[in-house]
Amino acid sequence: MTPTDLERAIDEAASLITAPKHVVALVGAGLSAESGIPTFRGPEGIWTKHGEPDLRDYERFAADPKSWWEQRIAGAGGLGELRTALESAEPNAGHLALREMEESGWLAHIITQNIDNLHQRAGSTRITEIHGNRTRLRCTRCHARWPLDEFPIDELPPRCPECGGIVKGDTVMFGEPIPKDALDECVDQTWKCDCMLLIGTSAVVYPAAQFPLDVRRLGGKLIEINPNETPLSALAEVTLRAPAGQSLVRLVERLRDLRP
Ligand code: NAD
Ligand code: ZN
Repeated sequence: MTPTDLERAIDEAASLITAPKHVVALVGAGLSAESGIPTFRGPEGIWTKHGEPDLRDYERFAADPKSWWEQRIAGAGGLGELRTALESAEPNAGHLALREMEESGWLAHIITQNIDNLHQRAGSTRITEIHGNRTRLRCTRCHARWPLDEFPIDELPPRCPECGGIVKGDTVMFGEPIPKDALDECVDQTWKCDCMLLIGTSAVVYPAAQFPLDVRRLGGKLIEINPNETPLSALAEVTLRAPAGQSLVRLVERLRDLRP
């Protein structure tokens, strides 16, 4: 996309965002790429470089939660490259732009597939984490959640003090159903949404990939921010073919100009 085309697309995106009443951002790993966290898919993605991982994580956890916990405490398993990046990442200009959009009333809600806690650290507050948050634990039965460092682990697997259910990391594993409370919130936001920003998501992971399709079906508009084409590109009203940080900063500047 040429700089002129990008500027024109930013103008169109800004006027779409100021027109609707309920703008929702659907965020994927691409937003955190500029924080140094690798994505799974896309040209630089971990899976693109190293192949797809074993997808039976949750099956293994459900079969033997005690040994899953023992391995977790021993620091085994998981993608080393991803874990190291997650531990040192800071929110980037894109996360901060989303916070400003929320504060200024341009953004009603964030549905994020990221587990990195960077939206919270940037100061956003209306967030649904469809794949959980790596800094929390969750009860598999009642969905209660706790910050990792506030939950005393004195038996394995740990048990929920509320209902006695088994406690696991809040991050949704491959094969694990999306927690019902998070999914319900996403569906509710999708129904309310008249403009969805698709930011750094490859839009192939269900159910998240379904939300933009539903927004379109219900008459809403899609704005895609992604340097690469995705299966949703053809459905987007406006496309910003550039990295999320840069695009969101420019978009917010334009929104400020349009403020009455
Ligand atoms: P994905 O890895 O499948 O796709 C990433 C997308 O981001 C690609 O379409 C790519 O073109 C785009 N992208 C790359 N750099 C970008 C940039 N600078 N700006 C904007 N877009 C950019 O990501 P996904 O769709 O979110 O799905 C994968 C799953 O992996 C998610 O559900 C998530 O749970 C998990 N994941 C999370 C993190 C994280 O928390 N930061 C990181 C990796 C994977
Ligand atoms: Zn519980």
